[in-house]
Amino acid sequence: MNGESYIRRLGAGSIRNPHRQLPTGHICKRDSELFEGCSRDARGSPAPARHTESLDCIIMTAPINLLDLTPVEALSRLDDYMVAKEEPGYRAAQVVRHLWEKPAADFGAMTTLPKLLRSALSDRFSIPRLEIVARQRSTDGTEKFLFRLPDGQQIETVAIPEGSRLTLCISSQAGCALQCAFCATGRMGFQRNLAAWEIAAQVREMALLEPPIAVTNVVFMGMGEPMMNWIAVDRALTILNSPEGLGIGARHITVSTVGVLPGIIALGARPEQFRLAISIHAPSDELRRELMPVNVKYPLAEVLEQARLFDRRVTFEYVMLGGVNDAPEHASQLAALARSCRAFVNLIPLHEGGALEFKGSPPERISSFARSLRDAGVEVAIRKSRGKDIAAACGQLRVERLGRGAPRRPDQHGEVNVA
Ligand code: SAH
Repeated sequence: MNGESYIRRLGAGSIRNPHRQLPTGHICKRDSELFEGCSRDARGSPAPARHTESLDCIIMTAPINLLDLTPVEALSRLDDYMVAKEEPGYRAAQVVRHLWEKPAADFGAMTTLPKLLRSALSDRFSIPRLEIVARQRSTDGTEKFLFRLPDGQQIETVAIPEGSRLTLCISSQAGCALQCAFCATGRMGFQRNLAAWEIAAQVREMALLEPPIAVTNVVFMGMGEPMMNWIAVDRALTILNSPEGLGIGARHITVSTVGVLPGIIALGARPEQFRLAISIHAPSDELRRELMPVNVKYPLAEVLEQARLFDRRVTFEYVMLGGVNDAPEHASQLAALARSCRAFVNLIPLHEGGALEFKGSPPERISSFARSLRDAGVEVAIRKSRGKDIAAACGQLRVERLGRGAPRRPDQHGEVNVA
């Protein structure tokens, strides 16, 4: 919604002079701006605007969601507001600080601001929350969150501590349209794109926990395909990275994609050093098509070409499927592809909960696969399984809560995809 005003015509006329003084004493600055005093009901939805018969139109403004703006945009909106309110100029920056840097649960919690201003702000602006539906903690410290979005959709976020780092694996869509054969999210189908704020708020919510979780790294490896929701992801990247936002270094933010070419190009065009991971999973078109239907639209050769053109080092993700893509010849084919792109390869043990018809490669097979790659001059890592005692990531938690898919078995791996 993001502050778009909507105009209700009460008569035959249209807005002739949106700057005129309204009888209520409120100034209408411009139609994307406000009606000061357009109040909200207890649920936070706009109350009907007051009007008189002498008006031929009325402009109502839904509360502006400050979290869906970049910090620079939010500052500019708030600056305008503070000017109109005759508040000191520094107030706008104070509010912006409470959006991401020192997040406040609501306007009431922004105790550096006068009480009256806090309540006036909540009439005009919103800072929505994501509701935690479930939270599970593994013995190894990995934590999974199931969040409910304002429209009832549910998404997963996983927090993975590792030494001094804490990587947050975030979702970019509710569900996913891509139908990768081994992925639980694919099974539930596509529900909708997340808004930029819903993506960034997954990190924000960590800071609002008691005690807070301080996120150092972010990977877009939760639910959804980030490059199929580029407009929101693009904006979310700005919020995550900018110093007035969450201040996470670009090199500590990884976007993972099946190889959606326009998205890779758009990410590469950003000046910041965001990292790119590509889910390869098969070294030939034939096998990749079977595992990842998206390969029909974006064949391997084209994906690899974009990987070569990407001016930063790319990571290839390769989920190890027993008897499917883990033979020695797959390793040598993959090595050739990775070398041609100077890519780093991440071998991912299969999270079997996502794919009952697949078996994960045995650990020795994964090790020998990794050795072949290394011997062929490719840098490779085997991703650690984390949170073995909780069903992690890849749509597992949501599938479980919604009663779809297989029930969780105690031995299931909590693969959570740390880059
Ligand atoms: N759509 C993006 C990002 C989300 S998935 C992408 O595909 O890259 C993040 C990673 O988890 C991908 O590499 C995906 O292939 C992998 N993944 C999905 N299901 C999995 C499973 N059951 N076990 C292990 N990894 C899985």
